[in-house]
Amino acid sequence: MRDKLYSALSSFHFFFKKRYAKRLRVLAYHTVPDKMAFEKQVIYLKSQYNIISIEDLKSHFRENQPLPKNPLLITFDDGDITVLQKGLPVLKQHNLSSCLFIITGLINTSKDVWIKRIEAKEMKEGKTYLQAREVVKQFKEISNVERVGRMEEYLEVSKPQLTTQDLKEMIQSGMFIANHTHTHPMLDKCTPEEISEELTEAKKVFETLQFPGFDVFAYPNGNADEQTTEVLKKFNMELVFLFDHKINKKNMDPLNISRIMVDSDTEMTEFKAKVSGAHPFLFHLRK
Ligand SMILES: [Zn+2]
Repeated sequence: MRDKLYSALSSFHFFFKKRYAKRLRVLAYHTVPDKMAFEKQVIYLKSQYNIISIEDLKSHFRENQPLPKNPLLITFDDGDITVLQKGLPVLKQHNLSSCLFIITGLINTSKDVWIKRIEAKEMKEGKTYLQAREVVKQFKEISNVERVGRMEEYLEVSKPQLTTQDLKEMIQSGMFIANHTHTHPMLDKCTPEEISEELTEAKKVFETLQFPGFDVFAYPNGNADEQTTEVLKKFNMELVFLFDHKINKKNMDPLNISRIMVDSDTEMTEFKAKVSGAHPFLFHLRK
C-alpha cells in the first residue's frame, strides 16, 4: 500500500517540481546509516536541483540576492556521528554544502540525547520500539521542569558524539554548523527563562568554539510557538528552521523556514515523492 502510494506520487514529481521551481526546498535529515543509499539520493538531488549553502540563503535575505532555479538546502538535525562518518564523505566528494544543527551540550561528550535514554530503558524492560516511542511522546507533552525531573529514572546512555575536531573538519568540508539548543528540550513546554537559559548555554559553546552559527537555529522536534519566537528574536536569530514537512512559499520569512522530513536510506520512489513536494502536498491535504 505504502509502496503503491509513493510510486503513484513519484509519477507526479515532475509536475510538482516544475510547479514549485522557484520555491526553496530544505531537506531535514537526522542520520546517515547507509553511505551508498545516501549517495544515490545525493546524485539524484544534484541532477535535479541547485544545492545552495547557508551563506547563499543569508545573502538572499540580506541583499535580496536571487536564489538559483530549483534551490535546495540539505540540513541534518542533532549531530549524529554517522553524519560525519558516512554523510560528510559523500557530500565532500560531490562538493556540496550543507548545514548541521548541533545540540551543544552533547559536543565532546559520550552521552546520548534524552529521547534515546528513554527508548533504551523502556526497550530493555521489554517494550517494543513503537511502545518506547509512545513513552517518548508522553515526555514531549509534559512541562520541561517535570520532564527533567522524571529523567532521573533514566540512566545516561553511552554514545560517541562529535568533537571540536570533528566539527572543524566538517566546516572545512563545507558544512555549516548551526544551533539546535543546548539540551534539546521541547521549547513550547519551557518557560521563557528556560528558553533563554538554553540559548545562553548554546551561545557560550559557539563562542568558545569560535563558530559563527549560533544565530542559525532549528527548533527541537519542530516545536515552534509564539513565546519561543519572541525569545529567539531577543537573541537576534538570523535564520530559523521549522520541521513541518512543507516546501517554502515564494515569499519566505527568514524566521520561519519550512523543511521537508527525509531519511537518508529511503527508497528512491519515496524520496522523489517527498522532495518534489507531491508527498508534502498530500500529507497536509489529509490532515
Ligand atoms: Zn532534533
